[in-house]
Amino acid sequence: MTDSVRCWRFACKNPRCKLDIWLPEDELSRLALDPENPPDVYPSIALQCHYCKQIHRYSLLPSSSDRIGEDLVSPDHREGLDFVFLLRCREVYCRPLPLIETWSNAKSAEGQYAVRLANAQHRKWESLTCVKGHPIPYQQM
Ligand SMILES: [Zn+2]
Ligand SMILES: [Zn+2]
Repeated sequence: MTDSVRCWRFACKNPRCKLDIWLPEDELSRLALDPENPPDVYPSIALQCHYCKQIHRYSLLPSSSDRIGEDLVSPDHREGLDFVFLLRCREVYCRPLPLIETWSNAKSAEGQYAVRLANAQHRKWESLTCVKGHPIPYQQM
């Protein structure tokens, strides 16, 4: 179990999916780093589920019910993840949400590539908001 790392568990917020998403704590903290206030991480992220492709907002705060657990997780059971871009509402003083895509580490390299391609092709949302509830407009790639 030497390849196991500490992961945070989230559950996809799509009620028809609810996939368990295990994200390595170290990598997530690095990808969600706020470059203007290091070593602070953004308090919330937008996460794309690799199974249903939906993008929802999740809080990284330990007190949040979005973080539903943590454990040591082996490579085959945790997700791969990468930063895509920052999502912003129209208010200047609101903090952006880093959009983070996921894939399954259990897949082969080719399989992971195919998932990331599909992620990019289905990267859209209907009702994503910043932490203060302002809508995040869609046309910003
Ligand atoms: Zn999902
Ligand atoms: Zn806002």
